[in-house]
Amino acid sequence: MKHEWIMGIPVDQLTYEDILEDVPRYLDSSKKMSAISVNPQIATQSKDFPEVVEFIKSSTHRIPDGIGIVLVSKLTGGKIKERVAGFELMQKFLEYANENSRSAFFYGAKPEVLQDAMANLQQQYPAMKIAGAIDGYTALSEDEVVDQINQASPDFLFVALGFPRQEQWLARNIKRVDATIFQDVGGSFDVLSGHVKRAPQFYLDHHLEWLYRSLSNPARIGRIFQLPVFVIKSLWWKMRNK
Ligand code: UDP
Repeated sequence: MKHEWIMGIPVDQLTYEDILEDVPRYLDSSKKMSAISVNPQIATQSKDFPEVVEFIKSSTHRIPDGIGIVLVSKLTGGKIKERVAGFELMQKFLEYANENSRSAFFYGAKPEVLQDAMANLQQQYPAMKIAGAIDGYTALSEDEVVDQINQASPDFLFVALGFPRQEQWLARNIKRVDATIFQDVGGSFDVLSGHVKRAPQFYLDHHLEWLYRSLSNPARIGRIFQLPVFVIKSLWWKMRNK
C-alpha cells in the first residue's frame, strides 16, 4: 500500500473499499488491523506525542480523515483522492459485523452516552454481537480493561477516548489485546448515542463538517483556524522535506 508523508506522518492512499476488502483477510488470519485516523489536529500536534507518531507509523491502515489532508495531498502532487472519515468507516465496520454476525467491543465515552449508544447499535445492527462495553471514565485499571476485552475476545474493538488518549492507549496495549480490527473513533459514540448531532447534510456535502463543529460548540471555536494553519504548515513542511 502506497503512502504519503504529511508533516512527518504517513497517510495511506486508500479508500473505504480498499479497507473493507482487507477485513475478511485479517479476520480469517487473526492478523491485527489498526485503522487509525490521520487528521489535521493529529498532524499538527503529534510532535508533542512521539509515541503516537510511532504507533501511526506501525499501523496497518492510516486513513486520510479530513478534507485538510486531501487538500494538502492535492496541492503537493499526492494521490489521495477522497476523505475516509473515521465515523463513516466505523459505520461500515458495524455493517460488516452485522452482515457477518461478528462481534464488537466498545471502549470510551461517558457512561450514559455509552449506554444510549449501545441501545441504538443493538437496534440498528441486531445481528452484530456486542461483546462488551466499558466507559472512558471507568475506575478499572488499564490491566482490568484489557482483561475484560480479552475475555470477550471481540472481532472489532473501537476506542473512543479522544486524541491523544485513544492512540496512546492503543500504542500501549494493541499487542496484548485479543481483538482483530482496531479503530480509534474519537467522539463517535457521542454521535451514535444521539447526544451529539452530526453536521447537517449541506456541511457534509461541501466538506465543511469541521466548520460546523467549530461553530456549534463554543469550546471548539478556536479550532476554526486549525485547517488553514494546518494547510500552511504542511506546505511549509513539504518544501523543507522534498
Ligand atoms: N473521553 C473519554 N475519556 C476521557 C476523555 C474523553 O472517554 O478521559 C471521550 C469523550 O467522552 C468523548 C470522546 O472521548 O466521547 C472524545 O472526546 P473529546 O471530544 O474531548 O475529544 P476530541 O474530539 O477533542 O478528540
